[in-house]
Amino acid sequence: MSLPALDDLLSAVRVVALPLVTTFRGLSVRETALVRGPRGWAEFAPFAEYDDAESAEWLRATIEQGWGSDAPVPPRVRDTIAVNATLPAVPPEHVAAVLDLYGDFRTVKIKVGEPGQTLDDDVARVRAARQWMGAAGRIRLDANGAWNVDEAEHAFRALEHFDLEYVEQPCMRIDELAELRDRVHRMGIPIAADESVRKASDPLAVARAGAADILVIKCAPLGGVSRALRIVADAGLPVVISSALESSVGLAAGIDLATRVPVLDFDCGLATAALLGGDVTAHPLRAVDGEIEARDIVVDDDACRDYAATAERTAWWTDRITRVYGVLADEA
Ligand SMILES: [Mg+2]
Repeated sequence: MSLPALDDLLSAVRVVALPLVTTFRGLSVRETALVRGPRGWAEFAPFAEYDDAESAEWLRATIEQGWGSDAPVPPRVRDTIAVNATLPAVPPEHVAAVLDLYGDFRTVKIKVGEPGQTLDDDVARVRAARQWMGAAGRIRLDANGAWNVDEAEHAFRALEHFDLEYVEQPCMRIDELAELRDRVHRMGIPIAADESVRKASDPLAVARAGAADILVIKCAPLGGVSRALRIVADAGLPVVISSALESSVGLAAGIDLATRVPVLDFDCGLATAALLGGDVTAHPLRAVDGEIEARDIVVDDDACRDYAATAERTAWWTDRITRVYGVLADEA
C-alpha cells in the first residue's frame, strides 16, 4: 500500500467525543478521529486501549477510505443493506426503550456475558427482547468471548428456547469454540466468530479450524474494504458485516464493504449510529425500516465543533496516529 505523507494525514485531523445514548463496552462517550484525504473524510477509531500494532490495520482502512486503495475493489452488488438493532447489556426494564430507538427492524443482537452480570441477567434481557420482538423476530447473541466452554454450554441450554439465530464469540479462544461447537451441535444454534477474526494475527485461522459457522467481518480492524473482501473470499463461510461503533464516516466504509460482498444472507451490524447521541454529520447513516442505503457522508463543521474533544485528547489522538503511521511505514 502506498502511504500518504504523514503531514497530509494530519493536515485536517478532527477528534470528536460523541455521546452514547446508553453505556456500551463500558463507554458513555465514543472518541474517534477524522482525517481528510483526496477521496473525502475518513475515520480512525481504534478503541483507546488498543495498542499501536493492533491499530495499524485501522489506519490502513482509514488511508484506503480517504486516499484510495492500490488493490482493485470489486463492484457493488446491492445498494441497501438489511441491518440489525443492537441491544447492550441493559436491565430488562430498559429493553423496550433501547429497541424503540431503531424503529422497525426484524433482527436484534443482544449483548450477553457482560462482566459483573449473571446468566440470569442474560435470560431476563433475552426474554424481554423476545417479548418485544414477537415470535417472528430474529435474535442473535454476542458474548464477546466471556464464557469458558462449560459456561457457554450451560448458557446455550438456558437460552436455546428463545429461538436463537446464532451466538457470536461465546468463548474467546479458537480451540474453545471448536469444542463448544462439537458439544452444542445437536441444538442447531450456529456459532459466529468476531474477535477470533478481527483480533487474531491470522483472521482465517478460525475458519480453517472449523470452529465457527459464520464470520463477523469488520472493515476497519481488517485493514479496509479490499482486505476484508479478500478474507471473505478466502474463508468460504457466510459472513455478517458489522461496525465498530464508528461515526457515520466510518460506518459508510462498512456499508460500502457490505455492498460488495457477493453473498449476504444475514442482517448486518451496521445500525449502530442509533447508539450515538451525536454524530459528525447532519444526516447520520441511520437505518430506515431495518435497512441502510449506501451513500456518501458530508461532514458538518458545526457538529465537529459541538462534539470536539479537548485539546489534550486531540493531542493524544494526533500522537497515536503518528506512532501508528510509523508501524505502517516500517512494514512498507
Ligand atoms: Mg461481536
